Amino acid sequence: MNSEPLYEGKAKSVYRSEEAGELVVRFRDDITAFDGEKKDVLPGKGVFNAVVSAFFFTYLEKRGIATHFIRMVNERTMIVKELAMVPLEVIVRNRAAGSIVRRYPFSEGQVLDPPVVVMDFKDDTRHDPMINDDIIVALGLLTREEIAAIRTRALEINRLLSEYFREQGITLVDFKIEFGKREGSIVLGDEISMDSMRLWDMETGESLDKDVYRFDKGDVLSAYERVVQRIIPGYFGGKE
Ligand code: 5GP
Repeated sequence: MNSEPLYEGKAKSVYRSEEAGELVVRFRDDITAFDGEKKDVLPGKGVFNAVVSAFFFTYLEKRGIATHFIRMVNERTMIVKELAMVPLEVIVRNRAAGSIVRRYPFSEGQVLDPPVVVMDFKDDTRHDPMINDDIIVALGLLTREEIAAIRTRALEINRLLSEYFREQGITLVDFKIEFGKREGSIVLGDEISMDSMRLWDMETGESLDKDVYRFDKGDVLSAYERVVQRIIPGYFGGKE
């Protein structure tokens, strides 16, 4: 991992591994919002997102969802399977919040039952525009069968994650995931973290995710830390 990154995202860096077919993903402490217009460095944030991602990848694998996760090498760095990433953000919404409220006549917090799945084309220069099946096929990104498989997989992931969060007193409002292909099959990649989910405390309604940063709602790091404490029992070894 001493070489230049293969790819630098807004909060993660990806490096080639010595092992063929594997990559090294390092979760940095950078935090950004609004297509990178707002940015800061929050020491320790990368660790919280890395451990939560690793936790959920493992949780999902155990329940039959193929993910890219292999193992952690340290608390902010993971080894993953190399995927051919599909440039789509697959978003599942259980409650209306964020862009869906800005764009459509939903009220904030409105329950969406059944959950709403939307896909955005991942391209910051175009502000990640919402995409539809015809455009995905016309761009040659996926076949209709693959789109259907991704939608089914995303809903299954939503069911599994929502159940886990509910048990911890947290509402999974929405989340964004990304998929890639490996030897012809669809595999969950990227991350599952407080940067890519909306989490509301069931009792207080408080945000425990990147909205705290986006909208200056308080101490982001402490919100992220509280998620780690609540969802990974024993992570802080009882010290906290
Ligand atoms: P919205 O469309 O309301 O902005 O976002 C819906 C959900 O997907 C939120 O949980 C948000 O954090 C996540 N999301 C949407 N776009 C991105 C993105 O570009 N990066 C990350 N990390 N999460 C995103």
